[in-house]
Amino acid sequence: MTEEIRVRFAPSPTGKVHIGNIRAAIYNWLYARHVGGKFLLRVEDTDLERSTPEAIQALFDCMEWLGLGLGDEPVFYQTKNVKRHLEVVERLLASGDAYKVERTSRDGKTGVVTMFRMPKEGTIEFDDIVKGHMAKKAEDIPDFAIVRSDGSPIFHLANVVDDIDQRVTHIIRGDDHVENTFKHICLFRAIGAPIPHYGHLSMIVNAQGKPYSKRDGAAFVGEFRDAGYLPEALFNYLLLLGWNPGDEREVLTREEMVSLFDLEKVHVTAAKFDLKKLQWMNGEYIKRLPRDEFKAAMRKSVEGLEGAAGRDEAWWDRLCDQMQVRTKFLKDMPGNIEYFFRDDYAFDPKAVEKRLAKDGVKATLLDLADRFEKVATWDAVSLEVVVKELSQGQGMGPWVHPVRVAVSGRTEGPGLFELLELLGREHSLARIRAAAAKYCP
Ligand code: GLU
Repeated sequence: MTEEIRVRFAPSPTGKVHIGNIRAAIYNWLYARHVGGKFLLRVEDTDLERSTPEAIQALFDCMEWLGLGLGDEPVFYQTKNVKRHLEVVERLLASGDAYKVERTSRDGKTGVVTMFRMPKEGTIEFDDIVKGHMAKKAEDIPDFAIVRSDGSPIFHLANVVDDIDQRVTHIIRGDDHVENTFKHICLFRAIGAPIPHYGHLSMIVNAQGKPYSKRDGAAFVGEFRDAGYLPEALFNYLLLLGWNPGDEREVLTREEMVSLFDLEKVHVTAAKFDLKKLQWMNGEYIKRLPRDEFKAAMRKSVEGLEGAAGRDEAWWDRLCDQMQVRTKFLKDMPGNIEYFFRDDYAFDPKAVEKRLAKDGVKATLLDLADRFEKVATWDAVSLEVVVKELSQGQGMGPWVHPVRVAVSGRTEGPGLFELLELLGREHSLARIRAAAAKYCP
């Protein structure tokens, strides 16, 4: 029987979960699912000041929100394993792999710290699943502390002992840990435990190629959640930051991700964060929402507006057809559909300036309103015929643009003729004439 593959996500909770960190969780999760292994969650909560219950809860919330769950085994807390950390230190002291030294800290206090004795010759090597062969001379790494003078274990030791105790077979983490890995391999050896496989993920960088940080914009999962991103869209986008399925596909179902994900195909080069692409991805996920879900969100957003009452189901369906493919964020509603439901809709001053406040527009609008008034059936096809005839193959822009601003106050929205059909004869004509009188010279 082959050994079960066990991976873990081991964050130090601080209250905010950086997208680079959660991307590591996503890669671990997908890898475990792909190989039929276990995904474990370890909370490295030894920094007692930052790892508050609230910070840990914020971490859990992010993981649940993204559909990662909290791991396939009970959550492992680093602080609960301190006894084991210190037992291992005793063994390392006994075998001569560790020793104690007196140290004076910056505040002048003298205490005893425990140091790990690095091998003094040879090369430390490992084959990184992402980065390839890595090597460093042992003599280039000085001995390092593993227990503080107050008796508390230090990251390197706690991290390695916990990985041993959780029987982790593959460590997939950010490449800010590469230098640590050389030390950790020596610790695994000295303790006498098998060395896990490693895969170090490149950083997420900004447009200048520097590590992506909060100075570059939203950097924490909670900020994207609050900004209206769908968890599936953020998940899919972060997955593509450093991996792709090897073809043109970008929007993938969770099943496709699980079946296609492969650690060996993770990119070595740093991944550039691209907000535009993430916004596009969100729109793609909104298009794929069940129609009823989108329709319900749309209706709820305009609940209480006078014009929303008394519309039939077919009308809402038609509005849904127009809006679901054009919506990037659910929270852009009601803003981008409000004009359907109130006659005192807002006019975007820039749109007015560009499309209405021009010579000749008034005559165009009034003439068009008169022609529209004569159509037998108020539907998109009949209205389009009117403008087509007027434009005589020269492009419908000079009619379409001002009418759109007149009836909606904005430059973007559904196809104009569908919009007019949805708005209805009476409202459309009244709006075109009123806007012509109010905004056109
Ligand atoms: N708590 C460390 C971190 O968040 C551990 C990383 C790891 O070993 O995966 O950077």
